[in-house]
Amino acid sequence: MDFCSSPGLLPVAEAMQRIYAQLVPLRETQWVDLAAALDCVLAEPVCAAINVPASDNSAMDGYALRSADTSSGAEFEVIGQSLAGHPFVPASGAALGAFQAVRIMTGAVIPAGADTVIMQEKVTRSGNRIQLDAAVVQGDNIRRAGDDIAQGSELLAKGRRITALDIGLLASIGVAQVKVYRRLRVALLTTGDELLPLSLSPGSSPLAAPQAGKIYDSNRPLLVALLQRLNVEIQDLGIIADDITALRAAFLQASEWADVVISTGGVSVGDADYTKDVLEELGQIDFWKIAMKPGKPFAFGRLGHGWFFGLPGNPVSTAVTYHQLVVPALRYMAGENLVAVSLLIAVAGQALKKQPGRMDFQRGILRTEQGLNKVYSAGAQSSGVLSSMARANCYICLEAERGNVAAGETVSVIPFDEFIR
Ligand code: AMP
Ligand code: MG
Repeated sequence: MDFCSSPGLLPVAEAMQRIYAQLVPLRETQWVDLAAALDCVLAEPVCAAINVPASDNSAMDGYALRSADTSSGAEFEVIGQSLAGHPFVPASGAALGAFQAVRIMTGAVIPAGADTVIMQEKVTRSGNRIQLDAAVVQGDNIRRAGDDIAQGSELLAKGRRITALDIGLLASIGVAQVKVYRRLRVALLTTGDELLPLSLSPGSSPLAAPQAGKIYDSNRPLLVALLQRLNVEIQDLGIIADDITALRAAFLQASEWADVVISTGGVSVGDADYTKDVLEELGQIDFWKIAMKPGKPFAFGRLGHGWFFGLPGNPVSTAVTYHQLVVPALRYMAGENLVAVSLLIAVAGQALKKQPGRMDFQRGILRTEQGLNKVYSAGAQSSGVLSSMARANCYICLEAERGNVAAGETVSVIPFDEFIR
């Protein structure tokens, strides 16, 4: 990114570095039951206390036997069976003898002395005898103890956000509770005299257009929904009027409880509102012009004992700055180990308009066509047009210095993740 070509604008990566440099991750921990652990962040690594599988077991329905006895046509006596949950117990307590076999089912423990399982389709059975149709290879069709998870190994690292698959994995080693960081507390408010709340009266629907000059507050429902993906505690402080006393009271209330306060609106220069004045009075907040489109105005800093993020009011600017700057910050604060997002390379399926100066996060639709990543514009790119963002499945990331893109040019794409859907 070329900072020099955009005087006064802060590159996105540098804004993120400044945010990381100030934030301090949570340290408080708690134990949670596995059933409540989805999307929590591990505060310590989880090591396996047992092997998975716990013992050598069969990968097939068939017969367990000694490979040393096998050759095509060899005959064996079936002396018992081993079922999942019901291992074979030899009457004598001895290991399997020469030319003896045990009927075995998938998942059942391999009897002592056996070193191979032959599929039932590869033997001919008559009474309690089987004859092999083919030779076998030692170790065939046996899942070894510890093959999946070795006892003592680190299964999940500290800082891992627990997924549904992790829950399955943890259950497989018998873990019923995990130590996680407590959930972040996030307070949220929207600002603007033009904003209308949704009516919650039964059966109400917005059939009539709002009165002149008013708009429905879409940022707050959007952010509440997006924050739910991050498993944080949310305090919704509602719509705050462009009024210095109301704003002061709301920000004070928010900062008493919250680790992070998020507001939308009122952070651009030349605003008629008082957000900036109040924040300057209550906290140590920087007002940035970030070299990104949408989303140039952005505020970040200390508010009370927590942190403040001020997002621009236009719904797409709100969504994109939240996703690009606030989500990584919240994940970092929540104790999560972050890995860099993967960029894809795609071919522009159509021409894309772009002015040099800021990094564009255009709303795109990514498709695979004849094995190739192709990306198209999702529609109007104005920062007020939320419908094209809802249609999109990716950002088309166009570098700051880049100009118009012709169809067929290569572009970078970031597919939407669960934090922006
Ligand atoms: P602001 O950042 O306050 O200057 O607002 C920029 C634009 O975003 C204006 O057109 C506002 O009406 C609009 N806007 C601000 N807040 C919201 C909101 N909560 N929901 C929808 N639009 C908003
Ligand atoms: Mg406003």
